[in-house]
This record gives sequence, C-alpha cells and structure tokens, in this order.
Amino acid sequence: LMQLSVPLNFIGFVYREIRQGLTDIEQMFELLDVEPEVRDLPGARPLAVDQGAIRFDNVNFSYDPARPILKGISFEVPAGKTVAIVGPSGAGKSTISRLLYRFYDIQSGNIVIDGQNLRDVTQKSLRSAIGMVPQDTVLFNDTIAYNIRYGRIDASDDEVNRAADLAQIGDFIRGLPEGFNAMVGERGLKLSGGEKQRVAIARTILKAPPILILDEATSALDTATEQEIQAALDFVSKGRTTLVIAHRLSTVVSADEIIVLKNGEIAERGRHTDLLAQKGLYTSMWDRQREATEAEEQLKRMREED
Ligand code: ADP
Ligand code: MG
Repeated sequence: LMQLSVPLNFIGFVYREIRQGLTDIEQMFELLDVEPEVRDLPGARPLAVDQGAIRFDNVNFSYDPARPILKGISFEVPAGKTVAIVGPSGAGKSTISRLLYRFYDIQSGNIVIDGQNLRDVTQKSLRSAIGMVPQDTVLFNDTIAYNIRYGRIDASDDEVNRAADLAQIGDFIRGLPEGFNAMVGERGLKLSGGEKQRVAIARTILKAPPILILDEATSALDTATEQEIQAALDFVSKGRTTLVIAHRLSTVVSADEIIVLKNGEIAERGRHTDLLAQKGLYTSMWDRQREATEAEEQLKRMREED
C-alpha cells in the first residue's frame, strides 16, 4: 500500500505545483508585464509561517537605478492585523505588494515574515503562504467551478459552494442556467469586474492563506456591489495578516494602521481618526472622496426623479 500511495501522492503534488506555477506566472505577467528576475538562493528553505507577521525594515527599491521608487520604507503588519496603504497613483503602493510577493528583490533593507528574510526562503513557499486578490482578475476559459477550485484543487463541491457564498457570489452563480458549470472567460460568459473579483475572493477563501494582499478595484462600482465586495473581503481577511491597497477610503476606516504613501515615502501614518486630526494629505484625500461620493449620489437621485 505504501508503495502505491507514495507515487500517487507525488503525482498529485507535482500536478498541483505545476498548476500553481501557472497561476503565478499568469498573475506576474498581468501585474507587471515583465520577466521574473528573482532566483532562489542555493539552499533556500521553505518559509515556515507561524503567525504571519510582516516587517518592512528600511526598504529601498527601484526598478531602474536612476529612479528610486521606495525610499526607506519601514512598517509592520502584526499577525492577524490589517494595514492599509493609500496615496496618490504612482506613489509606490502596488510596488510594496509586488515586493512582498517577491517579484523583485530590494536594493537595501529587509522584508521579513515571522523572522525569516524573504531573500532566504523559496519563492514557491512564499507564494503559497500569500493570497493575492488583484485589481483585475483574469479568469481561465473554463467553468466557474474550475476557476474557484483553482484555490485548492482538491476542494469538494460543498466547499466550492460555501466559498462562493462567502464571497457573495453563490446566488448569482446558482441563478445561471448552467450554474457552476457555466463557462466564463473570452468564449464564455462575460462577468463584470466586480463579479470577477468575487470569483477571485472565493478562490482565495478556498486557498485560506495566512497572509493576504488585497488590491481593491478602482473602477466605479455601484454602492451595492461595493458593499457586497467589502463584506466578502472583510470575511476573507478576518484573523489573517492583511495588507490592503485601498482606493476607496471608506474601506480603511477600521484598519489597524493606515500608511499614506507619497513619492515612495511615508507621508503620514496612524489610524483613521488620528490622520483626520492631522489635517494633512489624508484629510484632503478623504474630503475629496466624500465630495465625489456625494456628487455621485446626487446624480443618482436626479436620475431616479426623472
Ligand atoms: P501605485 O500603485 O501607488 O499607483 P506603483 O507602485 O504601481 O504605484 O508604481 C510606482 C512607480 O513605479 C510609478 O512611477 C511607476 O511608473 C513605476 N513603475 C511601476 N512598475 C514599473 C516597472 N515594472 N518598471 C519601471 N517602473 C515601474
Ligand atoms: Mg497600484
């Protein structure tokens, strides 16, 4: 029995690793549009995640030596807590998430998870410990069930259903003529940005990683969709170490720390109420967004009255 079960397990393992590798490559091209340039060190060890505490320690990084992007960034995401990064576009927010996923190596400083420097661990183990919900999810030209089960290919139908429910997309899928067997992607059903994001959230719920990186959608989602997605994200990040890149400030109000990034430097940091009291960059971002939301709502009321 041993002789039989070992090779079968091994095949399952390889199959899963290959498929996982494919997602990583796809996501990498999608996120970066560049070739990978990071190699495992000889003798690199797998990352041993205990609580999933993250630390950036005086991190300096540039894509091109002539142009520094992150300048001496230090922060911590304590185990199970949520840290939000906000700031103008081009500030370096997504770069921070790419460095945590180790798409690039930093020029100086350290990035550490549970005491282990990212340079010293295998990329594969690092990426299996992190769940990434990107801004724009690319789905496979396959069924919805396949796209969700991708998070953990041995998940049962019940688990896939439950993950879809938790991601607030179960009812939508069951309402389709072909349900979970509906084809999506280029030649199938075209899902909206918010629906695709919820499929990615369901996938991440199945993966159940100790560390999460969420890049929230910027596209103007209607308020109801936004609230559904927010509920799904809140669920998936509960008790997990979470780094959230937030475009909508309404979603960072409850973060344990908010980091305001500007030109690759931390301009302000603190909790929501502390930042508002500072009446600085965060406050002006907050006011601007409130005005935009109010204008949007007013427009909607006017349309409804017509
Ligand atoms: P944010 O997410 O805050 O909008 P990014 O982290 O994506 O900002 O980008 C920070 C800066 O780095 C931008 O000026 C961007 O043009 C630059 N940048 C991003 N990716 C690359 C890359 N692959 N090569 C060179 N420069 C890049
Ligand atoms: Mg970005």
